[in-house]
Amino acid sequence: MKKRILIVNRGEIAIRVAKAIRELGHIAVGVWTDNEPEASHLAFCHEWVHLSGKTNTETYLNIPKIIETIKENKIDAVHPGYGFLSENAGFVRELKKINCLFIGPHAEAIHSMGDKAESKKIAKDAGVPIVPGSVGEIPRVAEAKKVAAEIGFPVLLKAVAGGGGKGMRVCNSEQELETNFETVKREALSSFGNDGLLVEKYITDPHHIEVQILADKKGNVFHFFERECSVQRRHQKVVEEAPSPFIGDDHEVREKICSTAVALAKAVKYDSAGTVEFIMDSDKSFYFLEMNTRIQVEHPITEEVTGTDLLSNMIKVALEEDLDFKNQEEITLRGHSIECRICAEDPVTMLPAPGKVTNFHWDAFPNIRLDHCLYPGIEITPDFDPMVGKLVATGRNRDVAMRKMRTALENVHIYGLKTNIPLHKEIFRDEVFQKGIYSTKYLEEVRPQDRVQTELTGLDLQVSILSVGFEGDLQ
Ligand code: ADP
Ligand code: ADP
Ligand code: MG
Repeated sequence: MKKRILIVNRGEIAIRVAKAIRELGHIAVGVWTDNEPEASHLAFCHEWVHLSGKTNTETYLNIPKIIETIKENKIDAVHPGYGFLSENAGFVRELKKINCLFIGPHAEAIHSMGDKAESKKIAKDAGVPIVPGSVGEIPRVAEAKKVAAEIGFPVLLKAVAGGGGKGMRVCNSEQELETNFETVKREALSSFGNDGLLVEKYITDPHHIEVQILADKKGNVFHFFERECSVQRRHQKVVEEAPSPFIGDDHEVREKICSTAVALAKAVKYDSAGTVEFIMDSDKSFYFLEMNTRIQVEHPITEEVTGTDLLSNMIKVALEEDLDFKNQEEITLRGHSIECRICAEDPVTMLPAPGKVTNFHWDAFPNIRLDHCLYPGIEITPDFDPMVGKLVATGRNRDVAMRKMRTALENVHIYGLKTNIPLHKEIFRDEVFQKGIYSTKYLEEVRPQDRVQTELTGLDLQVSILSVGFEGDLQ
């Protein structure tokens, strides 16, 4: 039976979800808003519904309006993508009331894993190593100081409801902890509607390693190995790889981190696609960070190295259809895959740079994939995340994948919009990155951004020649 599936999202992930829905023979229903009547994902859907309003609060985050739309349009299931309502347990409960399927985990798993203090408790009880520090919330600065004295500085103050790299502050001394505590609490309340904080050891020079899992509704949990996402700015990922170059061929560690992720998923009776994130120390000991109860931005690299379509299998889980595999042994690693997040931002400062794409060309060749939402004329506004595409290169080993990525970066031409492609080019030219020995401090310490060569346009070139001439006259 064909299902009518509503995609409550936009941009590249809405397009990715629409393709998976079509592949399975169901009906992809897209959402359009007054802010983006010509949104690119609409072209990939069979039908469109209107969510009136311009702001995200009026549209993609408006639960009552979305529920009404679902009823009016006889929707059978909802895919939330990432961001927006993807980790909103209240939305999942509302959907249940009207008998509409949520393509994601059950509300309780979202609720418990969405709170960083609560999820740490569950992880600890499941025997999963957690970052030293408070297990529950820390209500007052005095308790925070006590925990810090036990674990030692530097410590990290973290909003329990934080996400997207926001709501975190490193404190190097008791004095800094004192000054930051109330500020971070206030910021957490205004950004996430929850002022809960926790204090944990700030691990210097760590690796961000995460495990992709997919669980069905019969209690089976499969893992799809790990990804390393240590190239970060502002605690947000910029480049991701699968498998992790830091774990390399240490299969014992790989097996341990993957089975730990599976154990945690089982502890919360997980029943969808999800990711368990860990932080790994230089001695390869690892600690649970958080669980993302949704499909993640960087899922394509895992699809490439395991030959598994995670999105269509995520939909199959929700519809209780047979998956493409029956047991863990069928899921094997083959080769290496790397993703560059293409963002509308300044390649040196890494700050958002909204603008209009005047023209766009890219060139596909073997083992190159570009998931994107671009077209000539699209306006990239500050209303949404600046990520406009994900360039993925895969090869039989890491060197081949990097070589392919270098060529691929030369073959994506986005005109009129400032993007971080020049930064990616420098990262792939950089020796430290090439050796695969980088930590989350990479961008801050190695600073490939300082070597970015701004590609001069004809007009820029004319301007710079004129200014050189002028300086010459002065001498
Ligand atoms: P978010 O929900 O914002 O993704 P995470 O807890 O996953 O928050 O942390 C995001 C990033 O912040 C991590 O990938 C890591 O680089 C850094 N980070 C988080 N906790 C620690 C820690 N205890 N020590 C060092 N770095 C950390
Ligand atoms: P991933 O772990 O999939 O790489 P990110 O942490 O980059 O995900 O988040 C994916 C998207 O969701 C981004 O657009 C990010 O801005 C948004 N996001 C995730 N969590 C939150 C949150 N708690 N508040 C605001 N935005 C969030
Ligand atoms: Mg995270």
